[in-house]
Amino acid sequence: MRKEMTVKANAKINLILDITGTLKNGYHSIYTIMQSVDLYDTVTVSLNETGNIKLLCDKPIPCDERNTAYKAAQIFFNKTGIKNGADIKIEKRIPVSAGLAGGSADAAAVLAVLNKLTGKNLSAAELCGIGAEIGADVPFCLVGGTALCQDIGSVISVLPDLPSCFIVLAKPPQGVSTKQAYREYDAAPWIRRPKNELMLNAVVRQDLPDIASYCANVFEQVIDIPKRVDIKYIMSERGALASCMSGSGSTVFGIFHNKDDAEKCGFLLKLIVPDIFITTPQKSGIVFE
Ligand code: ATP
Repeated sequence: MRKEMTVKANAKINLILDITGTLKNGYHSIYTIMQSVDLYDTVTVSLNETGNIKLLCDKPIPCDERNTAYKAAQIFFNKTGIKNGADIKIEKRIPVSAGLAGGSADAAAVLAVLNKLTGKNLSAAELCGIGAEIGADVPFCLVGGTALCQDIGSVISVLPDLPSCFIVLAKPPQGVSTKQAYREYDAAPWIRRPKNELMLNAVVRQDLPDIASYCANVFEQVIDIPKRVDIKYIMSERGALASCMSGSGSTVFGIFHNKDDAEKCGFLLKLIVPDIFITTPQKSGIVFE
């Protein structure tokens, strides 16, 4: 019998994102609180007996070793010594190079599914360890929900759920390369620090207005995205509690108390930016159907 499984791989936003230093290996250490949202790629994986990995995607991204989902299957089979291969299909909804961890979500989905399909049943910690070798956001995408992520992003502390709200995502056409974003950060003469401790405290207290007031992202100080100012202006005019860039951009998110305000804001934003998504916070990164 052919074993196949389909999951939803949720995107994330960064409620706060600070860069706290540079590690010996040259990577930056970060302090970020990430939140899963219900904008997702659909990832289907089946085991095959050929030992090869085959990947199909409905969007123009590389489908070979450069793809994070492909890498995830490769590394899973290498680490576990399992001789199977995998057929992977990705229906992509998460925009690419958007600061929403689309690639990391796909990799996390493949790891989570292969863990079940092969019956290997690695622990969450073991799976996150493998995920961290693919990318710093993969462990969060495996865990999902609301979490503080430190070191390069792969040291995770689970936090209480974000209070119920609506999160509008506006993705300007221009994407941002994460490498370039870090280069801009390194070249910046001075950076205003976000209020990390106060944000953590607000998240723990599940105080949405306070959380919104501490949303901040240091990359906003060094990366200029066309339309970002307009998006933030519209969000704030339409009653957003906060508007902030996610990851290294270019997506801007707005947090709203109610659906009606979020939808009206989304409608207006659509006039200036094509990719608009109305989402809600999710309690997990990977959703099994
Ligand atoms: P992050 O928020 O983690 O910085 P991002 O949303 O900015 O991620 P992605 O969309 O994950 O960026 O990926 C950016 C690059 O990775 C693109 O150049 C893309 O071609 C490549 N890539 C490799 N695999 C994938 C994948 N499965 N999905 C999307 N992009 C992928």
